[in-house]
Amino acid sequence: MFHKGAVLQKTLKAPIHCTGIGLHSGIKAAMTLRPAPANTGVVFRRLDVEGAPVEIQADWQNSVESALCTVLTDGNGTTIMTIEHLMSALAGCSVDNVIIDIIGPEVPIMDGSAAPFVFLIECAGTIEQLAPRRFVKVLKSIHVEQGQASAALEPGDGFSVDFTIDFASKAIARQTTTVAVEPGSFKTEISRARTFGFLAEVDQLRAAGRALGGSLDNVIVIDGDKVMNEGGLRYPDEFVRHKALDAIGDLYLAGSPILGRFAGVRSSHALNRRALEALFRDDSAWCYVTLAEAEALDAWQEPARASA
Ligand SMILES: [Zn+2]
Repeated sequence: MFHKGAVLQKTLKAPIHCTGIGLHSGIKAAMTLRPAPANTGVVFRRLDVEGAPVEIQADWQNSVESALCTVLTDGNGTTIMTIEHLMSALAGCSVDNVIIDIIGPEVPIMDGSAAPFVFLIECAGTIEQLAPRRFVKVLKSIHVEQGQASAALEPGDGFSVDFTIDFASKAIARQTTTVAVEPGSFKTEISRARTFGFLAEVDQLRAAGRALGGSLDNVIVIDGDKVMNEGGLRYPDEFVRHKALDAIGDLYLAGSPILGRFAGVRSSHALNRRALEALFRDDSAWCYVTLAEAEALDAWQEPARASA
């Protein structure tokens, strides 16, 4: 179905390159984002492994449950770690089609947020393609939980994310945010929120071969009830905004933007993945739709804006 005035797919106008270290591996990686034809979706290509290039479609079915970051696998031993902040930037900037060439096992952590990726996408520019964007419309509520954490997908206009976290540390405590995911609000309200971690857990993580690239340059580090980073926070509730950022990235593994409302309570990458899995397992819970521009505008105006 293709009608005049439909919301069209987008890709980059030009390739763009960056380098940086991986948060968990500590390994320096080089990454190039490239324009791709309509209906390609987001495709990662590892260029530094046997049989290269090894292509992995950014799809929840190619992701593995992992507590600390979102990992793609080709099912044959090749993985790409920590894709979620880049995926979030692609979702937030409405980039449908892109090939991501990477030399290294992990997407660079940059400053711990999605802002550097938004900057890269803006530098490259985006261009519309002659194919309507396909959305995944949520038709029925889906709920998954694990202990005190839960994740839900519900019908709704546009795409909005509600997130609640609750930590014992007074630096975080209980925080809730609601954000309508569209390019303007994503950039200002969400993209700059950095990942965070606790000083008390650093030794344990490093002993397990994780967080090897982590530093105050790319993680908000909390010591007891205090933020250790000299510049403090970028938003008063930066922590919950980062969790919303992660969820937006994880949900882009649906393969298409979602039309619906996501509600996460202490949800993890693994639980975000399970919510998608539960949605796609139930054929009556979702369908593909395209949108005329006018309908899309109406839809985006519905959800509540990010709480300040
Ligand atoms: Zn994150």
